[in-house]
Amino acid sequence: MSGLLSQEIKFLPGVGPRKALILNQELKVFTLGDLIYYFPYKYVDRTKFYLIREISGDLPYIQVKGRITGMELLGAGRNQRLVACFTDGTAILELIWFQGIKFVSQTVKTGIEYVVFGKPTAFNNQFSIVHPEIDESNSEASKQTGFIQAFYNTSERLKNNFIHSRNLLKFQYSALQLVKGSIMESMPAWLVQKLGMMSLELALINIHFPSSPQALKQAEYRLKFEELFYIQLKLLHLKEDRHKKFKGHIFESVGSNFNDFFYGHLPFKLTNAQKRVVKEIRKDMGTGRQMNRLLQGDVGSGKTMVALMSMLIALDNGFQCCLMAPTEILANQHFTSIQKFLGEMPVNLKLLTGSTKKSERAVIHQELLNGSLNILVGTHALLEDIVQFKSLGLVVIDEQHRFGVTQRARLWRKNYIPPHVLVMTATPIPRTLAMTVYGDLDVSVIDELPPGRKPINTVHYFENKRAETYDFIRQEIAKGRQIYIVYPLISESEKLDYKNLEVGYEQVSKVFPTPDYSISMVHGKMKPALKDQEMQRFKNGETQILVATTVIEVGVDVPNASVMIIESSERFGLSQLHQLRGRVGRGAEQSYCMLLSGFKLSSDSRKRIETMVSTNDGFEIAEVDMRLRGPGDIEGTQQSGIAFDLKISNLAKDGQILQYARDNAETILLTDPSLEEPQNDILRKQLIALRKNHLNWGSIS
Ligand code: ADP
Ligand code: MG
Repeated sequence: MSGLLSQEIKFLPGVGPRKALILNQELKVFTLGDLIYYFPYKYVDRTKFYLIREISGDLPYIQVKGRITGMELLGAGRNQRLVACFTDGTAILELIWFQGIKFVSQTVKTGIEYVVFGKPTAFNNQFSIVHPEIDESNSEASKQTGFIQAFYNTSERLKNNFIHSRNLLKFQYSALQLVKGSIMESMPAWLVQKLGMMSLELALINIHFPSSPQALKQAEYRLKFEELFYIQLKLLHLKEDRHKKFKGHIFESVGSNFNDFFYGHLPFKLTNAQKRVVKEIRKDMGTGRQMNRLLQGDVGSGKTMVALMSMLIALDNGFQCCLMAPTEILANQHFTSIQKFLGEMPVNLKLLTGSTKKSERAVIHQELLNGSLNILVGTHALLEDIVQFKSLGLVVIDEQHRFGVTQRARLWRKNYIPPHVLVMTATPIPRTLAMTVYGDLDVSVIDELPPGRKPINTVHYFENKRAETYDFIRQEIAKGRQIYIVYPLISESEKLDYKNLEVGYEQVSKVFPTPDYSISMVHGKMKPALKDQEMQRFKNGETQILVATTVIEVGVDVPNASVMIIESSERFGLSQLHQLRGRVGRGAEQSYCMLLSGFKLSSDSRKRIETMVSTNDGFEIAEVDMRLRGPGDIEGTQQSGIAFDLKISNLAKDGQILQYARDNAETILLTDPSLEEPQNDILRKQLIALRKNHLNWGSIS
């Protein structure tokens, strides 16, 4: 069978070299296999025939049976069109062609029964279909498409070259005729049987030419399951492999650092979620396997504390640690809060960023090598080759998605035995996505906020309520609170009339004049030193209002700030809005988030704003975000490259199938970790093919 599926598409009847090239370039379809795995995006039920009398304006597609009673050529030039009068005896429908007039007038005849299909439009109470699909009602073609008809995405270029969805359907038909009877099963027979699934061949036939709605469901299920199953098998196998290959440092003891801190320095009671996660991490670091763990926790859930306690366990076992943050502000902040948490404890903690002085760097490098430096906090500066540890045992990475996989790997190489790795992210991602994108990691979740936090009160105002917004700001400042005002753009955009930061700053300065008020401003184009200085003034409470772009999005902690105003909020993505809102509500005070927007909102913007107003739960927000944008666009997933070659599954919708697929993959690997047993032969071969990063039709047989 391998030969057939890998046959070039140009040999398929009706395709030829010219169309083949276009299919290559537009759809990445090179072989029959590629074509057959180019799945429809929707189906239209063509089992139903309408009477022309029944047609109304709101039917998306209709199918009618009848005869043409006459045709005439109307108009001239670009307006020239062929109009056919079509009737089933109940009423008249006009069929109109602007293109291919000659061909149509020669082939379409009066008096024969036709099946006509298309989108009806109304003009002067007369319904018509422009460029209908038309087949003789007892023709081969109408039988092929007589039931549930598949539709394929095409492009402008495909259409201009007469490759419409309909043509693709015909190609599919010929391709399937050719390979029918020779498509080999791609999953073990025992598994197909156990799960009661359709065979691969039947599934592929039914995905393009469903014999019934039930068959279509089964075909979709089979193909989705298979797709997700192999991704999970690959990830779990990878994890298994890594566990075998890399021994981890064994942190068996919890000693004085951890205990002194826990009993003497802990400034608050840990939440149950924090306790649970610390336990998970401690257990994982004690097994002798290298830990690769993702820690998900909403903004403000207290991840820093978990990181610190994990690091103290490493110290207790004679190892060094580092914590890497994506920006200098964040690195500083982590450093300061850890310093405060540790108090007088004898832990040597240092900070390394781009602005660390040369002389200090020298000390740091030396102390790292001789082992006297215990915890190093920093930015990307940590990745430089000159930064070498004596015995690096644990690496903590904050805000994962700003770092790529390759950067993770660079930290790994800083010790002969790779250190344990804890990746922390404050952008919750939906569970299905986590299972796929981070499927080779273990995942811990802090799903609880420290006690006493009041949910942030979020409202949506149209821009005409700005005066009320300012009144509210005044009241809050009078109570001693601080305010963020965030704008989406840094400089005036020619096309879009969005509130811009500088204009906003001037406006805010007028409403809140000195000396009663003072305002800071930060944006991405500022020099880092100046930016930090402005941030610092706000943090110290010297300014009451911080006017900013999204540079403050990640992790900045000013507990006294209680109001987040987001201008042109319709411009922001959901996860960004959630991150921004997370800057407030960090203290004990009731906090507020005000989303200002213009009057014109797209349905997506409206949904985003409504979601923000209705919930504070980052995971819920992440789910909505995924549904709105599709999994491929969710922050933090681009670099993985895994989930987004999905041909048929949708992580936003197929969570249950995914879970089932993962469970099955787990069970199989549990009893046959290397997939050596004969009945799992196919699985092993498929994994090898997947490693080459594409399904190689030739290697499956
Ligand atoms: P994030 O998970 O967003 O990084 P942080 O670690 O910055 O959150 O914690 C947010 C704030 O909550 C910090 O001021 C931190 O000291 C505080 N905090 C953390 N854990 C607790 C707790 N169990 N009880 C009270 N406050 C806590
Ligand atoms: Mg944080």
